[in-house]
Amino acid sequence: MSYSKTVTTVFNIRQIGLDMFTYDESFRRIRGNTRYPMKSCHKCGHSFADGEKISLAVIDKGNKVLCRACAEKLASEDDSIKVMDKGGKAEC
Ligand SMILES: [Zn+2]
Repeated sequence: MSYSKTVTTVFNIRQIGLDMFTYDESFRRIRGNTRYPMKSCHKCGHSFADGEKISLAVIDKGNKVLCRACAEKLASEDDSIKVMDKGGKAEC
């Protein structure tokens, strides 16, 4: 007999940077060998497409990457999060 349970981790966001990086060849080369290669959105699991803009969340547990949709949603839901918009309007 066995059982499992899902542990929920709460990530407190301090700051969000919209479109901080572009998911391209050089990004993959730089991040590819690291412990956290930043290949997908930390919140929804969306895998970044080549050329897609990546948003960065500064969290109490370190930095995480988000897709634009998640970053905008989180930023709009909490006025206490500082938002930096580097890329301006979303392309998609
Ligand atoms: Zn997402």
